[in-house]
Amino acid sequence: MNNRPLEIVEAQWGEALVLQLKGGFDANTSIAAQERLMALIEKGYIRLALDFSQVDYISSAGLRVLLTVLKKLKACRGKMVLFGFNDNLTQISSIAGLTALFSIHACVEEAREAFRWKDPAARFVKAARTGANCAAYCGETIDIDSLQKEIRLAAENRGWKAEQFLGDEGRELTAFSRVTGDATKSIYISSGMHGDEPAPPLAMLNLLWQDKWPRNWNIYLCPCLNPTGFRANTRANAEGIDLNRDYCRSQSREIQAHVDWLERQPPFSLTVSLHEDWESIGFYAYQLGQSSVESVMEEIMEAVTPFCAVDHSPKIDHLPAEDGVIDLAFHSLQANEKIIDSVAEGLLRPESKPQAFAIWSEPIFLINRKTKFSYTLETPSAFPLDVRVKGLVQVVNALLNSPYDFAP
Ligand SMILES: [Zn+2]
Repeated sequence: MNNRPLEIVEAQWGEALVLQLKGGFDANTSIAAQERLMALIEKGYIRLALDFSQVDYISSAGLRVLLTVLKKLKACRGKMVLFGFNDNLTQISSIAGLTALFSIHACVEEAREAFRWKDPAARFVKAARTGANCAAYCGETIDIDSLQKEIRLAAENRGWKAEQFLGDEGRELTAFSRVTGDATKSIYISSGMHGDEPAPPLAMLNLLWQDKWPRNWNIYLCPCLNPTGFRANTRANAEGIDLNRDYCRSQSREIQAHVDWLERQPPFSLTVSLHEDWESIGFYAYQLGQSSVESVMEEIMEAVTPFCAVDHSPKIDHLPAEDGVIDLAFHSLQANEKIIDSVAEGLLRPESKPQAFAIWSEPIFLINRKTKFSYTLETPSAFPLDVRVKGLVQVVNALLNSPYDFAP
């Protein structure tokens, strides 16, 4: 038997990461293989299809690695399938009882089918993942125009009011509202701010389809703020403006119109901005406001955990984090102080540029103008798209059903 080392090649991206194994899978090679597989899972690649068609043999050490990896994947709600077994491997796998533990398929198509996203929203996916996120998002892209039509249809069929607040061709923006006489609170939810973040608008459609909005909330939705960015799969809009940094100077047509629309609405009890992060290794959330509400953050994390792993890093996005929470309650006050000072500076010396204005995000605008409670939800866009969509839907539902009163 030749003792060639085990090579692992990342062969295909899509519903799952297809890994081609080449060589022998034994005591000599299994440690390195385990480290490689664990590192991929740590990065969020939690759906693996292992191709055994070029594996010469597998020993008990190799089998142990497969079991360890399976255990790890189960802990983070991932999945692994195996395919391409030759007669020898088929015999070993039945002796070792692998067939009961693993899902074993004949070929790659069959293995990938095991991961296919069966949600009706999956039809808006335009292209599959092309690789690991590296300096940019490389995951699924969506057909934003068809998705927006479906969002409008779903809302209007359920009695929502639609209001187009920007009519520029190719960048029409629409808000939807559902106002009831029984409401004691109001929530504003936005998505589609960054064109390389497809899960948020898909989550919005799922929430509309689901139609489980509690009667005690008035609800305001802006499902897609950056259609030109989505068409190009870019964070920024067609002019290269990051819309989520444009809420003070409002240089873009989109944010000029959005700010005007927001200013016309009553104050909100709570606002939620849905986003994704291509660098993160799990779900996390920002909390902004004058005070932090620990119980609400706990509810958010409890709601998301069964569907999407949480990022427990001590620092996320260069900010201190604790169990997936970046608490900017205090930070946002400090940011405001800087802005107040720069306004004063601008008034005293009009020639000086109030730099702090340039970076206002939507939540900073909302906390200053419209609400006392603002949450930004970030899903890890290295994860499968359906996991990210489900995670956002669960958290919005948890916020709508929170026992906390969000009193102004
Ligand atoms: Zn974003």
